[in-house]
Amino acid sequence: MTTLPAPFAFSQSSLQDYADCPRRFQLRYIDQLSWPAVESEPVVDNEKRQQEGQLFHRLVQQHWLGLPADKLAELANTANLERWWQNYLGANLQMDGFQKYTELTLSFPIGGHRLLAKYDLVAIRPGEKAVIFDWKTYAKRPRDEWMAARWQTRVYRSSLILAGSHLNGGRPLIPEQIEMTYWYADFPNEPARFTYTSAQFKRDQSAIEKVIHEISKADEFPLTEDEKMCRFCIYRSYCNRGAQAGQLDEAEAEMESETAFDINFEQIGEIEF
Ligand code: SF4
Repeated sequence: MTTLPAPFAFSQSSLQDYADCPRRFQLRYIDQLSWPAVESEPVVDNEKRQQEGQLFHRLVQQHWLGLPADKLAELANTANLERWWQNYLGANLQMDGFQKYTELTLSFPIGGHRLLAKYDLVAIRPGEKAVIFDWKTYAKRPRDEWMAARWQTRVYRSSLILAGSHLNGGRPLIPEQIEMTYWYADFPNEPARFTYTSAQFKRDQSAIEKVIHEISKADEFPLTEDEKMCRFCIYRSYCNRGAQAGQLDEAEAEMESETAFDINFEQIGEIEF
């Protein structure tokens, strides 16, 4: 029997893993198994892109912290980084008049555990508006419907209400004051913007409570029935779900299809840090 350690620090990534495949959740967060198989081929390209994504996040963070753009530009020393950096500067995301918080972590207790949300940037005008930014270095722009359904979109907006009062003069934000923007480094003019409503907040809150309760009580974490999930999963060898990784190109091609929801794109496009 497998049980969740308590208290457990849930995040959008662990909830997404559970949604994609309960067994993946178990292997990664309960058994804490390391990464036995590559996620996608070609391995070198994928790893390089992940590292570049990580560095891009750092450059942007440092820029918001006030480091000069020309100094940071020297670190954008690969073709991808150079392009993303130029796109980022060109987008001119100033947020004048807002208080800015980079790499902000919010957390609150829930069902005997905690939920953590780690934001790339939160820009807030207390009492008026809050904009959550998340930088994405995906090679293909995902459909907005796909992003809207991600746990990240739901957890980030609701957590800002539940744990972000101190950023808003001590009062909880109301959902209608919140907007979440995914800014795509390769598609600088096509960000995905998600506003929020009280009804959505209520739904998200209850969905989060429900899934955390379900995971806490679970004594079995079955393998997903949807074997497409396995093609880009590092635990394929544990589950006898194929030794060969899926192609990164294929994953991106599937983003266009109706099966786009089935792909764990978080693992392909970037690494969290
Ligand atoms: S290989 Fe498939 S079944 Fe196994 S953890 Fe990964 S997604 Fe789940």
